[in-house]
Amino acid sequence: MNRRLFLGGAVWAPVVNRQGHAELPSSNPLNVVVAGGHPGDPEYGCGGTIVRYGRLGHRVTLLYLNRGEDPQQEDVGCTGADDGIRVQEAKEACRILGATATFAQQCNGRAIVDNPHYHAFTELLASLDPDVVFTQWPIDNHPDHRAITNLTYEAWNRLGRKAAFYYYEVSNGEDTLMFTPSEYVDITNVEELKRQACYAHASQSPDRYYALQEEVARFRGIEAGYMRAEGFIRHAQSRRGLLP
Ligand SMILES: [Zn+2]
Repeated sequence: MNRRLFLGGAVWAPVVNRQGHAELPSSNPLNVVVAGGHPGDPEYGCGGTIVRYGRLGHRVTLLYLNRGEDPQQEDVGCTGADDGIRVQEAKEACRILGATATFAQQCNGRAIVDNPHYHAFTELLASLDPDVVFTQWPIDNHPDHRAITNLTYEAWNRLGRKAAFYYYEVSNGEDTLMFTPSEYVDITNVEELKRQACYAHASQSPDRYYALQEEVARFRGIEAGYMRAEGFIRHAQSRRGLLP
């Protein structure tokens, strides 16, 4: 039975574990895409969940909108290099999490959301054939985060809403605001790998930002009944039951 058939309707009958999540069959690996504005966003928001998908045999791609280069003036071309420090950090973070890094080739701090970029991003997302998509929350302070959420949401629509669709949170108070999770993933036993992946972004003040994200993980854990958790908002019309 191929993956599409298995997930394609009546055949898909997930066994629900005691956390209320599906026991995802590793013999039918899912393609999971975690989209983020910058290198580090998917890791901070979803690092524990990414590790848990990988341990179940699923394939995870971290899809970054840009390569995190220093923002440039409007009249200067996008200077992000494939061997730049932020790209190297992202690849190391992905290695730690068991994921693959992909870049949408936009420019840091100058995200463009228009029809040509909707088209290009939809083609890129389609090429990853996702069963599950995560993206940033629309009420984030960084405009690149608001760009990636618009691009991802439009692509999900254009691709027929076939994948499950979740929002994640980062740096609450500084970036994500007004976020109330609808679902949680227990990351207690994988937090160490998440921490290592976030600290792989050594150029981005991990002592400061990981401390904040750790507080969020502990608070989401209190809400959900775990030591630490990552919280997500599932789109009300998304397929359900595909969190690890
Ligand atoms: Zn960011």
